[in-house]
Amino acid sequence: MAACSGEGAGGGGDTGGNQPGDLTIGVSMPTQTSERWIADGNAVKEKLQAKGYKVDLQYAGDDIPTQSQQVDQMITQGADVLIIAAIDGTALSSQLQAAADAKIPVIAYDRLIRDSPNVNFYVSFDNYKVGVAQANALLVGLGLQNKDGSKGTATGPFNIELFAGSLDDNNAHFFFSGAMDTLKPFIDAGTLKVKSGQTKIEQIAILRWQQETAQKRMEDLLTSSYNDGSKVDGVLSPYDGISRGIITALQNAGYGSGAKKLPVVTGQDAEIASVKLINDGVQSSTIFKDTRLLAEQAVIAGEAFLEDKEPQANDTKTYNNGVKVVPSFLLPVQTVYKDDIKPILVDSGYWTAEEVAAGQ
Ligand code: BGC
Repeated sequence: MAACSGEGAGGGGDTGGNQPGDLTIGVSMPTQTSERWIADGNAVKEKLQAKGYKVDLQYAGDDIPTQSQQVDQMITQGADVLIIAAIDGTALSSQLQAAADAKIPVIAYDRLIRDSPNVNFYVSFDNYKVGVAQANALLVGLGLQNKDGSKGTATGPFNIELFAGSLDDNNAHFFFSGAMDTLKPFIDAGTLKVKSGQTKIEQIAILRWQQETAQKRMEDLLTSSYNDGSKVDGVLSPYDGISRGIITALQNAGYGSGAKKLPVVTGQDAEIASVKLINDGVQSSTIFKDTRLLAEQAVIAGEAFLEDKEPQANDTKTYNNGVKVVPSFLLPVQTVYKDDIKPILVDSGYWTAEEVAAGQ
C-alpha cells in the first residue's frame, strides 16, 4: 500500500498561484474493516477530485506504525494539506511536527489528534451528544423514557451492561461521558442496575472497537454475572460492530428465542448490517452520522487552508487536545429506530430500500 500520488507540488503550504491540479491532499484513514471509514475516504476523495485536486488516500489497517509511515510519506511526497482520522489520538506527534515544519496544515477528521500543537482544525460530529443520544435510546427502548424526552410508562428496575470504545480514541471518552451523564440519575435511583458492577471506562472499553472482543466480553459478563437466572435487559453499545458482537453472544446464550427476549442494544454509524438488524427488531437503535456531510466539511476546511484562509469554526471551546483548544466544525447526529430507517436513511439516499431488505 505505498503512497503513489503527489509529485511534490510544493507542499509547505506554499500554494500561492497553484491550480488545484498542482495540489495534493493527503487523506489518512484508520481502517477498512468498518464501512463508515470506507464511505468517509471515498466521499472525501470524490469531493476533492471533483474540484480538481490530487488525492493520496491511504488506509492503515488499524495499525499505528502503518499510519505513521503513511503520513510520513505523504509529507515527504509534498502533500499540501493533510486530513487525518487517527487510530491512536496521541501517536502522531512527530509526523505532525514534520508537517508543521513543512508548513502543511493538518485537519483532524472525526477523531481529535491529541497532545500536539500542530493540529490546525477539527471536523467532527457533536461527540458528547452521540453519547447522550445512545443513552436516551437505551431509556426509550426500555420504556423509561419517550422519544420526546418525557417520562415513559416502565418503572424497572432493569439490568443493564455498559460498553465503551477504544481508550486511545478521544471520541470514546466523549461518547461515554455523554451517556453516563444521562444514565447516572437512573443508576443512582436504582432504576438501572449495572449487575456486573463495571461502570468505569477502563473496565468496559473495547480496544480498536473490535466486534470479537466485544462478543468475548459479553460472553464473560453472562457467565460471571447472569448465571443465577437473572436476565440482561439493556446494553449500552457505542458502535454497531460492537453491538453485533454483543448480540451474537446473547443469541448464543439463548436470548431472542422463547421467553428470553433480547435486551435493548444501542449502536452507532448506521452500518448496513445493523440497519438490517434494526429493521428485523434485533438491534434496537443506531446513531446516524452522515459521512457525506463530514467529508464536505473536511473539503471546505482543506480549501480554506489552500487559499491561505482560516476555515470557519462553529465551536472554539470544546476540543482541548491537551496542548490547545482546536477550532472545530461539529455536525449534528440523528437517532435511528426502526421507524426512522426509511425517512432518515433511505429517503436521504444513504442506503437503498433494497439494501435494507436484502437477504430477508
Ligand atoms: C467514530 C465512530 C466509530 C468508531 C469506530 C469513532 O472514532 O467517531 O463513528 O463508530 O470510531 O470506528
